[in-house]
Amino acid sequence: MDEWVQRQLQALPQVDLLLRQPELSKWNRTACKEAVRSVLQQWRQRIVQKHMTAPSITQVIHDIIMQLQRQRVYHLHTLINATGTVLHTNLGRARINDTVSTHIAQIASSYSNVEYDVDTGQRSSRYQHVQRLIQTLTGAEDCLIVNNNAAAVLLALSTIVSGREVILSRGELVEIGGKFRIPEVIKQSGGLIHEVGTTNKTHLADYEKAIQEDTGAILKVHTSNYRIIGFTSCPDIADLVALAHQHDLPLLYDLGSGLLVDLQAVGLPYEPTVKEILQQGCDVVLFSGDKLLGSGQAGIIAGSARCIEKMKQNQLLRALRVDKLTLAALEGTLQLYIEKDPLQEIPVLAMLATSQEMCLQKAKMLAAALRQDHTVLEIEVMSCEDVVGGGAYPGCTLPGYMVAISMPAMSVNECQRRLRQHNPAVISRIHQNKIAFSVRTMTDEEITCIPQILKECMDRS
Ligand SMILES: *Cc1c(COP(=O)(O)O)cnc(C)c1O
Repeated sequence: MDEWVQRQLQALPQVDLLLRQPELSKWNRTACKEAVRSVLQQWRQRIVQKHMTAPSITQVIHDIIMQLQRQRVYHLHTLINATGTVLHTNLGRARINDTVSTHIAQIASSYSNVEYDVDTGQRSSRYQHVQRLIQTLTGAEDCLIVNNNAAAVLLALSTIVSGREVILSRGELVEIGGKFRIPEVIKQSGGLIHEVGTTNKTHLADYEKAIQEDTGAILKVHTSNYRIIGFTSCPDIADLVALAHQHDLPLLYDLGSGLLVDLQAVGLPYEPTVKEILQQGCDVVLFSGDKLLGSGQAGIIAGSARCIEKMKQNQLLRALRVDKLTLAALEGTLQLYIEKDPLQEIPVLAMLATSQEMCLQKAKMLAAALRQDHTVLEIEVMSCEDVVGGGAYPGCTLPGYMVAISMPAMSVNECQRRLRQHNPAVISRIHQNKIAFSVRTMTDEEITCIPQILKECMDRS
């Protein structure tokens, strides 16, 4: 072997020295050793076969960290959402606020007062942690938290309707996604559906005619993921409430997303908030924790003390109950609504509130970073349409911006595949045969990672 090559090989940093580097201390020891071994092996090959000069220790450490990041330790891992769909159901819906995430982690790794009253030393209810917050934010007398909104619908119907009839408009026989169908859930709960009206029009009189001795409740379902337009009508909530109460029946409302603040300020069309629905006299409102509310997966049941009390007695509640992590996420998120500006602090709402002008600034930042690192790419900043997702605001688009790139040497499908398989994975869009990154759903930190990730995807043979 020639002397120069030998000298280069000797200049490679020692394994022990590398393992002592503070940058590597947070990684698992075994994984670290394996990565060090493999990176050094790669460099030996480069020196011998390609006559490359020995790298600096900084370069080697960088390679080791990249290698460690590439080896996915967990099957469930984080990724970068560049699709512009804010509540992407397949990508975990709502992103939780950072301070709240830290709180969740602390509750996870410690004991907590989840069902314990520190004043009395007695057992207490796990729902107490969020009860006051939900009362303040929605005006409800009482509440319950279950696993998700589907579970909320199941518990409410099985408690209140149980074996009797529930009246529901034909315009609201909803399938949410993942084959969750309202009529099926009603059947599962033991209730019998009494359909009234037509797909486009249901009148108060239709509901009235359907009421009979074994009617258990009137149910309204928010048609969250579709919109019937044109010749349509349905009764006002207040009228429906009056009718139900006249017959001593409760009105239940599956609100789907469950908005706590008015989003008209950010340019979205009017949608009633949970508080408004309850103010109109609705007895129970059911909504998700991880749609527009911006917490983790949960179903929230808010309403009259009488109805909620009955649900507390239902054995099914035990099977649907939430754990401490869900409660930590929910309490933390709800507090932000009260103490801070939710449009800034709740990531979902902040992303919806990002104006097109702000998206343009972010897109320009990404384009500039990409141009610096990639000379062969054609890079364009283009306006795009983002969506709320999660079955909320169907048909509405949010005007945003994306960065679209054309590559000379690779098909878009291949590039998209490599981005998906990278660590961290990037889920991109395809627009006119170009790879596109919508900036609305990415943090500034994630945006700064894109040029390097793209480089690694292109270099990979
Ligand atoms: C999303 C939705 C559900 C299901 O909520 P999950 O929290 O996903 O279980 C039920 N009803 C309506 C109207 C919805 O929009």
